[in-house]
Amino acid sequence: MTPPRILIVEDETALAEVVRDYLSAEGMAVDVLFEGTDAVSTALTGNHDLLILDLMLPGVDGLTICRELRRTSDVPIIMTTAKVEEIDRLLGLGLGADDYLCKPYSPRELVARVQAILRRAAGRADHAATAPASRLEIDTERWVARLDGKALNLTRREFMLVHSLAARPGRVFSRDDLLARAFPDDTEVFDRTIDSHIRNIRRKIATISDNDPIRSVYGVGYSYDG
Ligand code: CA
Repeated sequence: MTPPRILIVEDETALAEVVRDYLSAEGMAVDVLFEGTDAVSTALTGNHDLLILDLMLPGVDGLTICRELRRTSDVPIIMTTAKVEEIDRLLGLGLGADDYLCKPYSPRELVARVQAILRRAAGRADHAATAPASRLEIDTERWVARLDGKALNLTRREFMLVHSLAARPGRVFSRDDLLARAFPDDTEVFDRTIDSHIRNIRRKIATISDNDPIRSVYGVGYSYDG
């Protein structure tokens, strides 16, 4: 089995080196960039399993790097920032990072989060390969979603929303993010409409199960935790 490959983009060299050592000790292969200029090209060509990306960087900042990558890449990203207030703002921007960590953080905490994300990603890969029983089945050809084996009878827009959320279990999507993913060409949908669609989806879920896999993230948006 090839070790997970991690890219750290961090201008505090001492911190970057400590993180590299912790991740290496867990058997991961680690690359480090101390500034942002080449981060996008390195991430797109380096075959990394995860990025640890600092927000404030010389060259190109973490925000720009994250946005640029998300146009073509789904590589998991952990954003780190020096200010806790920044995290709310970043979540609100719907950058599509998988997790956020405020400095100073303990390297152990970071390692734990890296491992959690890698486990989730491996679960997705297994799922794609062997298709074991999952709570939610999405049939994109017939536009049918089934929860616990029962059809949810979703409208087209509801289906698109569930499909977008379930594509990345655990990831928090902002309303704008969902809007762009689920309704890219639909100009009649606005961000608060997302809430009413979710309410309707939940009503349909409730007729099948008390265990609602859609999680509301206060002030931010939604995630699928099934
Ligand atoms: Ca920095």
